[in-house]
Amino acid sequence: MPSVQNRVALVTGASRGIGKSIALALANAGCHVAVNYHQQASSAEEVRATIRSLVGETGKSLGRTAIAIQADVSIPADVERLVSQTERELGEVEILVNNAGIAQTKPIAEITLEDWERILRVNLTSAFLVTQRVLPNMRKHRWGRIINLSSVAAQTGGVIGPHYATSKAGLIGLTHSYAALLAKEGITANAIAPALLETDMVTGNLNATPDRIPLGYFGHPDEAGRAAVLLAESDYITGQTINLNGGWYMS
Ligand code: NDP
Repeated sequence: MPSVQNRVALVTGASRGIGKSIALALANAGCHVAVNYHQQASSAEEVRATIRSLVGETGKSLGRTAIAIQADVSIPADVERLVSQTERELGEVEILVNNAGIAQTKPIAEITLEDWERILRVNLTSAFLVTQRVLPNMRKHRWGRIINLSSVAAQTGGVIGPHYATSKAGLIGLTHSYAALLAKEGITANAIAPALLETDMVTGNLNATPDRIPLGYFGHPDEAGRAAVLLAESDYITGQTINLNGGWYMS
């Protein structure tokens, strides 16, 4: 496998949960990482510090750089600031993980247009905004990795609601389009579709119970970290959805 040594990665929503696992896994694999967060500055700072203090088997520092950047990735001006700061302090983004996301569980009849638009903006439009901002440099260098966090909700409907499921299904369409259009340019685009990896999003949702999973238990977020490294290192995997779901949806 080609290495991702010294590549610059931007992981959105990396202060906790799946994004944190992916940021740490990419750093262990060789990347310098921009750790984006929305509100939880101290958690993001811990992830940044952990990456900077990573050591190899001999106890020697791995020398990874990391920065933590506050930005709401659903807001175009924040996305511009996030990517510009990453470019200034780490270099051009070569691996983008569109992970930031929110869930909102409500009875179907109570979902408003405002709820719908907010979920789509944070979960789906954000991925479009950040990808469009980093793509010109990936295309210039003819190398890039785009990894989008979809969900089993795109495949089965899931446990959150139609607005969430739609945002996650949209990410698969976005992934397929970038994968097809960029295949000749050294840029791959893939999705990861988890269910139910044990994070705040899952433990905070009463409908997300282990009995929904054929394996009978929640997965560890590090599953997503391993999958992201595989996708970042591969030249040949593109347009795919990697299902990390304990057998809930089989493809
Ligand atoms: P968490 O709720 O544990 O973490 C969400 C992360 O997203 C946090 O880092 C949060 O930042 C960040 N975030 C939220 N809104 C924004 C925003 N507007 N701008 C920037 N960052 C934001 O979620 P998970 O780790 O469980 O989920 C990560 C992704 O995986 C999501 O897209 C989710 O939909 C998807 N997913 C997760 C599954 C699971 O089993 N856990 C299943 C299927 C999909 P802060 O800490 O600052 O608030």
